[in-house]
Amino acid sequence: MTIIRRIETRGCGCDAPEPPATLVSIDDALGRMAQLARPVAATQTVPLLSALGRVLADPVRAACMTPPFDNTAMDGYAVDTADFVGEGPWTFPVVATVPAGAVVPAVVGKGSVARIFTGAPLPLGADAVIRQEDARHSGQGVTFETRPEGGSNIRRAGGDMRRGQIVVDAGTRLDPPEIAACAAAGAGSVQVRRALRVGVLVTGDELWTPGTTRAPAGIWDVNTAMLCAALGSSRIDLVHVERVGDRRDLLERSLAALAGQADLIVTAGGVSVGEEDHVKPALGALGGDVHFSGVAVKPGKPVSYGCIGKSHWLGLPGNPLAAFVMWQVFGTALVQRLTGQCVRRATRRHVVTAEAIRRKSGRCEIRPVTIAGFDARGREVVRFEDATHSGRVGALPAADGLMFLPAEVDHLPAGARVEFQPFCDA
Ligand code: AMP
Ligand code: MG
Repeated sequence: MTIIRRIETRGCGCDAPEPPATLVSIDDALGRMAQLARPVAATQTVPLLSALGRVLADPVRAACMTPPFDNTAMDGYAVDTADFVGEGPWTFPVVATVPAGAVVPAVVGKGSVARIFTGAPLPLGADAVIRQEDARHSGQGVTFETRPEGGSNIRRAGGDMRRGQIVVDAGTRLDPPEIAACAAAGAGSVQVRRALRVGVLVTGDELWTPGTTRAPAGIWDVNTAMLCAALGSSRIDLVHVERVGDRRDLLERSLAALAGQADLIVTAGGVSVGEEDHVKPALGALGGDVHFSGVAVKPGKPVSYGCIGKSHWLGLPGNPLAAFVMWQVFGTALVQRLTGQCVRRATRRHVVTAEAIRRKSGRCEIRPVTIAGFDARGREVVRFEDATHSGRVGALPAADGLMFLPAEVDHLPAGARVEFQPFCDA
């Protein structure tokens, strides 16, 4: 769905040394990334117990039928319904006890039943299980008041998975639901794509590590911690994290070192067009290509994407909320693409606003929002702050995701339908 129109601004010259500024829409920018980013090709086999978070390279197929044999869904008695002739009650001797995992097949029928426990294989001759609550012990054996229906309380072989059936497809991220299905399919190990090698460069002379004593004009570095957290997953190999001063030669050196080894380089800060913004000049000096620079979005307008050698480069703005929001929109999409995740869960959905909004039109605006509940029509309602401040992250912990306000909209009444993207991981 296109949520904002392409906006072409006329270059006024004040953006030099850049060419006239051309902001692309979010969807165009995502489209360009999707065209250029190819999943890492190499694969590896990993034990299922270490596969959480990895991306499947080959589909997982059921090694055999699941369940592999007919078995009982209840503790009770395995019976042959043909024995229930005439009027009840019926009393039968109990000729065997079959626990789960029993290897010797029991035989019932011709007037006999077996005691059986959940998961145990159905004895030969049995076609129903009567739960123990519906049975009464007597001197001669066990008595039933009601005639059972054939097939009752039986889990049939292959009822969950057929042999050879694809249970989890290639391109799926292995989260706990998928791991469960792989285990049920008998997969002891799985073929996954190799982890994506990512390097992070955070720029800014003013930045200090949280918790240290900072200089009077220094601020805590938010983006290093945020990006390390966002990249903390088994499908990502964080090869390098560095804070780099605002100098082009330093940036060139760090970018050049990473270009040889990272599939993706993420920079934060220094990507606008001021004299202290050295990331794009450094990238240019190293022969890198910029595929887009500037998106019609608020916050995060300077966000940029390109390549240097074989490495993809994502340039995030330095303002922490802008960096976070742009990571959510572009970073997660790029990493998902590069790690080969193509079977994805739903991302954006529609919600309605709790309050009216007045804003300046022109750029798509993305605001952190909190799901407040449901309206009388059962629609999800979101609450938000009155304005977006690209540096403020204090309200993020209370938010559930991002609301997208279309570029052309300058006001919306309460109850307006807007797109919502829950916070997601890469
Ligand atoms: P920049 O994108 O480098 O021009 O930075 C824009 C604003 O974000 C400036 O006020 C910076 O001080 C601030 N900023 C940049 N990087 C960070 C960071 N890692 N943590 C906190 N604030 C930052
Ligand atoms: Mg800076």
